[in-house]
Amino acid sequence: MSSPVRPKKSLGQHFLADKRVAMKVASCLENLSAYRHILEIGPGTGVLSHFLIDSHPDAWYGMEIDRESVDYLRAAYPKQDDRIIQGDFLRYDLQRLFGPDQFAVIGNFPYNISSQIIFRVLAFRAQVPELTGMFQKEVAQRIASPPGNKVYGILSVLSQAFYDVRVRFHIPPGVFVPPPKVMSSVLHMHRKKDFLLPCNEKLFFSVVKTAFNQRRKTLRNSLRSFIVDGGKLPPQYAGERPEQLSVKDFVSITQAISG
Ligand code: SAH
Repeated sequence: MSSPVRPKKSLGQHFLADKRVAMKVASCLENLSAYRHILEIGPGTGVLSHFLIDSHPDAWYGMEIDRESVDYLRAAYPKQDDRIIQGDFLRYDLQRLFGPDQFAVIGNFPYNISSQIIFRVLAFRAQVPELTGMFQKEVAQRIASPPGNKVYGILSVLSQAFYDVRVRFHIPPGVFVPPPKVMSSVLHMHRKKDFLLPCNEKLFFSVVKTAFNQRRKTLRNSLRSFIVDGGKLPPQYAGERPEQLSVKDFVSITQAISG
């Protein structure tokens, strides 16, 4: 099947060409009907958007960076004109769009920026109750990975601190035009009921990032610069490396080092 938009590699454009897969991705959003706002990142040629617009025309927004795709979508869905936003999800002023409201996030994400998309969603966690997205398989597995695993890292700990994360299913390259070189997976993230951490959250982010940026060092060494003002690293963690530790462990460490 050919695409109505010339696929651009630099924008990570691999358009979904299988409506059944699109429907399956859309149905991963558990509370779809409950949301006043559903933001699709990178709608492209709209195979996924189609279902969302059909079923929730007054909730759907599409944010797409590519002018050509935006023109195509506006022509295909004229009634949605003011909901099709030309913009970069990584920079767009989301508050301008949604104010303080909650919004669900969905998309067949551009793989070259999928980690950055997750970091931005985490920054907006107070407003994003649920996310369903297509990722490169390895990235989806990394985000959902339990501790004690080579791929367990910053994205896993930070995402799982606030969300229940699960890989839902895998998708072969052939359902996209053009096919990517990698396998894809659909990931689902549901915000935890109580998503406020019992510690300084800003410090928690920097502890996790610092520990994993030197993942071969023990915490005694990697977190040395955090131990000030009467805080201390609990002795049971001093000789550990970050990939062994759960979200709970990182919370305990954050509590202890803030004294
Ligand atoms: N959802 C579509 C397209 C997926 S390809 C489908 O399933 O067919 C990824 C899409 O993300 C492309 O349309 C690309 O132009 C868009 N994109 C890339 N970077 C973006 C960014 N920073 N902000 C918003 N959209 C982006």
